[in-house]
Amino acid sequence: KLHNTILELKGNIRVFCRVRPLLPDDAAGSEMTVISYPTSTEALGRGIDVVQNGQKHPFTFDQVFTHEASQQDVFVEISQLVQSALDGYKVCIFAYGQTGSGKTYTMMGNPEAPEQKGLIPRSLEQIFQMSQSLMAQGWKYKMQASMLEIYNETIRDLLSTNRSNGPDISRGENGVAGKQYGIKHDANGNTYVSDLTIVDVCSIKEISSLLRQAAQNRSVGKTQMNEQSSRSHFVFTLRISGVNESTEQQVQGVLNLIDLAGSERLSKSGSTGDRLKETQAINLSLKCLSDVIFSLAKKEDHVPFRNSKLTYLLQPCLGGDSKTLMFVNISPNPSSVGESLCSLRFAARVN
Ligand code: ADP
Ligand code: MG
Repeated sequence: KLHNTILELKGNIRVFCRVRPLLPDDAAGSEMTVISYPTSTEALGRGIDVVQNGQKHPFTFDQVFTHEASQQDVFVEISQLVQSALDGYKVCIFAYGQTGSGKTYTMMGNPEAPEQKGLIPRSLEQIFQMSQSLMAQGWKYKMQASMLEIYNETIRDLLSTNRSNGPDISRGENGVAGKQYGIKHDANGNTYVSDLTIVDVCSIKEISSLLRQAAQNRSVGKTQMNEQSSRSHFVFTLRISGVNESTEQQVQGVLNLIDLAGSERLSKSGSTGDRLKETQAINLSLKCLSDVIFSLAKKEDHVPFRNSKLTYLLQPCLGGDSKTLMFVNISPNPSSVGESLCSLRFAARVN
């Protein structure tokens, strides 16, 4: 029960670490030499050790998924959190890590292969199934989805069907191209992004086609803007309103699933022109996210939500009795050990 006490002290912030398996593209002949697990060799533990220059750095998280953990193994551990969005909680699940560490695999996976489906499709399936079965107890749910991307501190609507606008690649508040998306907070503490497409969804089929549309809008940007998808934050939001017709209870939950931009430092990603600007924007917003989660965990009076678009957008879903889970994704590639240590230190700070 000690574990629960720690979680309570931390508020509702948890950190899970996931190590991806070695892939054929990883350094030839490399083995799992830099990462080991102190407590077990099974798919799930709490400790992870990283060896750099012969020195062992141990870390502990709420949970550590080894390279052997399947998508289902991971989902089992978050399904209760997903469920709580139906019960009226505001939930954020983030994937943090360097490019190539498995963030998109964890969040989206391969939606066409059932075993490789990630958290987003699995969570949505569970929510629709549960909402169906709760109908027997008088519950009726309305669900609304939106999907956006934050690139260089600019919001881009991924469900915009307005072709003349295309995927918005506007630049900053005074940018010249595309629509401007402003973030507004209303009196009830909800956020609105002006002009953002919000779609009523009634089935997993509808939402799957929206996810495909978003992926397509993202990849358009990708060819135009140099692998933009790994340089931007992807935010999927499902708003859930439930009414119980017999008891007249009402709930308003939100599920945010966020695939963060790659956390790699400047030297690796090149450091001139647009790339420099991108990297600075990413570093700044990831730093803000860490500051916000850190101040929330410490229950500080001032939480610096306003310092980035991402934290301002998610403000209502990060404080109070909302629930936050951060995945820190790790590559086992020995050449990534420096980045892995940075990611683990980032996560250890918010943990
Ligand atoms: P990121 O989004 O962090 O840049 P990806 O999710 O695209 O990284 O993962 C990089 C590569 O590793 C992809 O080819 C992906 O399919 C693969 N991969 C990541 N995690 C796993 C995993 N747990 N099991 C199998 N393959 C994985
Ligand atoms: Mg990715």
